[in-house]
Parts: sequence; structure tokens; C-alpha cells
Amino acid sequence: MGGSKVAVVSCTTYGKKEVEAAVKRGFELIGGVAAFAAQGERIVLKPNVLWGDSPEKCINTHPEVFGAVGRALQGTGAVLSYGDSPGFGKPESHMRRAGIKAVADELGIGLADFENGREVEFSGSPSVKKFTVAVGALECNGIVSIPKLKTHGLMRLTGAIKNSFGCIPGMLTHAFHVRIPNPYDFAKMLVGLNLLLKPRLYIMDGIVGMEGNGPRGGNPVDMGFLLLSRDPVALDTVMCMSVGLDPKILPTNVFGMEYGLGTCDPSKIEMLGDPIERFVKPDFDMVRTPIVSGPRYRVSSVLKRLLYPRPVIIEGRCVRCGTCVEVCPTDPKALSYKTKGRETPPVYQYKRCIRCFCCQEICPESAIVIKRPLLARMRRRAPAKATVGLK
Ligand code: SF4
Ligand code: SF4
Repeated sequence: MGGSKVAVVSCTTYGKKEVEAAVKRGFELIGGVAAFAAQGERIVLKPNVLWGDSPEKCINTHPEVFGAVGRALQGTGAVLSYGDSPGFGKPESHMRRAGIKAVADELGIGLADFENGREVEFSGSPSVKKFTVAVGALECNGIVSIPKLKTHGLMRLTGAIKNSFGCIPGMLTHAFHVRIPNPYDFAKMLVGLNLLLKPRLYIMDGIVGMEGNGPRGGNPVDMGFLLLSRDPVALDTVMCMSVGLDPKILPTNVFGMEYGLGTCDPSKIEMLGDPIERFVKPDFDMVRTPIVSGPRYRVSSVLKRLLYPRPVIIEGRCVRCGTCVEVCPTDPKALSYKTKGRETPPVYQYKRCIRCFCCQEICPESAIVIKRPLLARMRRRAPAKATVGLK
């Protein structure tokens, strides 16, 4: 298998022809589509489908990117399926509303089972040694991951490494947040999961990304590229460069390199295709300070308030749908309605809140924002290292 090569391919619209040409070029740059699938192999496509929102909102991997990747791989004679676990509700209905199912049906790509899981022991993981993985992600010869470039409340940015989390079925993703509330430990778990699943290739939809209050409530932003790589750490490193962020701000990159998943050292990444400098957006709206971590359960509530970011509901935007309450993984829940009639928005009990930000992630109205206390905001802002040292 090749080294840490990342193909950067310009693509400015979701027009079918342009996306198809960009995917074809990306495959050529990275070694040809035949290097990733062969006649009769069962390959699972893993797009990022957080929720069944329309493609225009740019929350999920765009159906045209999914379709172009599918068509390219079908040319090898591989048998494709697809899946993701949105963590709440039926994957099929999310896939339909996200526009992925229509493209998959047209191409004869079946939905894999991402609702049921099987336990797998994996000693090669740096922390968690046992995962329950979606049956569909296990019963295949290989996975091709198709992440989306977006901001993320817990992990700052969500890219290639984080996309594999959708191979954990259903509500088990929430259980992971309860079990591993510390974002650095969470990042280590994600690295272990990627080492276990070993997707053959990662293809990032960075044509239109999401900035601000992502991963669901942010704003679409034209980025204009696709990234392709076998190395998810290298791919996420180039993603960081495109937004002017020091790649080492993301613990997934740091642990990814430490535990042998890939490299976040720009001098060890070979860039192919278009120069990343063409796409860099230093004003990309995101939090650029290191992620706050700490002994959450041992500090006093006063210190917690001073140090740790917390989710807050903007009352005027809340439509009282209750999704945030349903998705909150703690028991008892850390936010609830004061009255049965839902006359007012849900109310937080921060003492119980583990800061997983699942509520912020899922709110359909962008009504939940993450407030960072003064001390957290005063932390050193990491310098941007856009393209320094790239080969
Ligand atoms: S998910 Fe958002 S809109 Fe729905 S109740 Fe919670 S805060 Fe309000
Ligand atoms: S209130 Fe939100 S951030 Fe806190 S535990 Fe529940 S889902 Fe996570």
C-alpha cells in the first residue's frame, strides 16, 4: 500500500459532470480505481449522513459525490453497498431525505445493515479494545469512506477519522459519549476504530463545507475541492491546512500519528493534483483554540462554569421539537422540559451534562450554541500553518 499521498482536486459545483470528472481525476492521481477494488469484491461506501437533511444544506456528503464514487468503483466489477448510522432514527429514512438513496437505487447499490452490530475485540487499539460494529461494515471486503468537511462542537472539525464513527450502530454511539466524555480519550477511541476498520480509501467532499455552528447548524461555505487519500490523518491534515488551522489542534491527528494510523507531519505528506494554497480559507469560521479537557467529574460546579464550554439554547430559535432531549445520552438526562406542554424550551442541568454536544449537533434549528467561558476563550490561539513544509 502506498505512503501518505493526498490528492487535491478542484471541483467548484455539484454538477454531475464536474463531480464525475473530479472523482475520476482523483482516482488517477492516487493510483487508479483498480488499486481500491476488484471484480466481485464487496465494498461498502460510507458517506457522512448525520441527519436526513436536503443536499442544499450541505450537512451530509452530497449525493453527486456519493454517486460519482459509486460509478467509478462499479467500473471495477466490485459489488457495492452503502450505509451510515445517524445515531437516531432509521438509516434508510435519513438516506432517502438526504438524497443518497435515490442515487444508490439508480445505481443498484443496496443499503447495508448499519442498525445491528457485532462485537469485535481488537488489541491493536490504543484505548477501547472492544467495539460493536455495524454488521454491514463487517460483512464486506473493504470500506470506502466519503466524509464531509465540517465544523464539529466536540472535535472542532469532522473529517476522515471521525467519519468511521458512523460504523457504530444506532444508539451505541451515544453510549460511547457517556463512557468516554473526555474529547482526547474520544479521539483515541476514534483512532482505534479506524485502525480496526481500515477503510481502503477516504474521499472528502470539500466542495461546499460547513463553518460556524456545525455539524448541523452551521453555514455552507464554498471550499472547491475533493481530497483523496489512503491515510485519514494526512487527509485531515490537509483539511486543516485548507482552513488555516494547525493540524495538531485536532487530537485525532495527534493520536492518529502517535498510534500509527497515519501522519500529520506536513513534511511527510506528498500532495498531488492542485496546490492546496489555491483553496485556503484563513477566515473559515471555527473555534481555533485547543480543545478543553479535564477531570470533569472532580471539579466544583463553579470551576466547571469558568473552565468548560457548555451548550446554551437560544430561546427565539427553538421550536420545541424535543430532538435535543431525546438525543441526550445521560441518565437522567441533562436537559428536559419544565412542563409537559413544552410551553418553553428545554432547560439544562449542567451538573449532569458531560459536554458531549450531541444536543447541539442534532438541533434542526441551529438553536443550540456552545458558549465558551472567558478562561477557555483566553487560551492560546494556535497559529495557522497553511502550507508550510509541504512536499
Ligand atoms: S432540538 Fe433545538 S429546536 Fe428542538 S427543542 Fe432542542 S433546542 Fe429547541
Ligand atoms: S445536555 Fe447536551 S451536551 Fe449535555 S450531556 Fe446532554 S446532549 Fe450532551
